[in-house]
Amino acid sequence: MKMVISIREHCIDMNPRQLPAGEMAINEAVSTLHAGGVVAFPTETVYGLGADTLNDEALEKIYQLKGRPSNNPLIAHVCDIDGARKITTGWDDRCSLLAEAWWPGPLTLVLGRDPSVPDRASGGRPTLAVRSPEHPVARSLLTEFGGPISAPSANRSGGVSPTRSQHVMDDFQNQPEAHDLLVIDGGPCRVGIESTVLDMTVDPPRILRPGVLTAEILMPLIGQVELAAMQTVSASPGTMERHYAPQTPCLLVDEFQLTGHLQSHEQRCVVITSRDRAVDPPHVLISMPTDPSGYAVELYDALRRADMERADVLLIESTGEEDPNWIAIQDRLMRAAADRNS
Ligand code: AMP
Ligand code: MG
Repeated sequence: MKMVISIREHCIDMNPRQLPAGEMAINEAVSTLHAGGVVAFPTETVYGLGADTLNDEALEKIYQLKGRPSNNPLIAHVCDIDGARKITTGWDDRCSLLAEAWWPGPLTLVLGRDPSVPDRASGGRPTLAVRSPEHPVARSLLTEFGGPISAPSANRSGGVSPTRSQHVMDDFQNQPEAHDLLVIDGGPCRVGIESTVLDMTVDPPRILRPGVLTAEILMPLIGQVELAAMQTVSASPGTMERHYAPQTPCLLVDEFQLTGHLQSHEQRCVVITSRDRAVDPPHVLISMPTDPSGYAVELYDALRRADMERADVLLIESTGEEDPNWIAIQDRLMRAAADRNS
């Protein structure tokens, strides 16, 4: 009996600790950051795994926890424009226009990296990505900590980003290095997909990762904005094609292909679609909202739920629309479905 209890206790110890958002969680998170530790916290896009941007060893812990390749740069989170200017070089009037319009919010700007910032903060690049998040928990953390916090998405590298604290708990459970990881629960994320990453070091500025803030929204402020092709790996390593990927083999399908798969009876399928459909058992249907904002909010939770079905294949019905507001979602779906060998 004693042994059973001790094994159980051991298992519980292996898991991260979740605290509800509030003063206690913020105080503990701030002490952890000052001590060179890592904390998981909500932002309006996805949950982040944060450490002190100016502490090289703390940054290394993020890479280790995530299993993230060391050349994949991190986004530094700041309270405001002043905070961003302290850690970057090359801030210009266009950056001010963008930040005044969209900060706090899901827009990341890539600028030069100030020499005070360790190489590791940007995976060894001379540039640094900065963003001011809008989520109240992220904002209190930044204010109380008093400095920049580097925070990639709080998932294991290459997997699906977390949009709920439980997703973070699931990803880091039974991982010995995460046994003391503090996860602040601030509810589901309002946006649900990662920020738009805009490279301000080139002319015209280039979108390296599409997000809910599209080129059409940004251009009236600063003129021409380009959209980088999907496989510009060297421009933004984290945008490698296979990313945001569920465990289940995943295919993007049109209506015709979907019907074919469901009728073949060879495989048990889980279907993600925003169309009005029904599927017969043993197949499983996950219905999505029909508008791009609603779809984005639910996308990563849907991919995670799809994995839990342990089906043979995940079929995602293409959203198909030409509407620029679907570009970021189509980008994530293509990466989720990208060939595992790519
Ligand atoms: P994550 O925070 O996990 O959503 O990942 C951050 C992503 O932002 C990286 O994987 C890159 O795609 C992009 N990024 C961050 N910093 C830079 C940078 N200095 N230059 C280009 N892209 C960047
Ligand atoms: Mg990520």
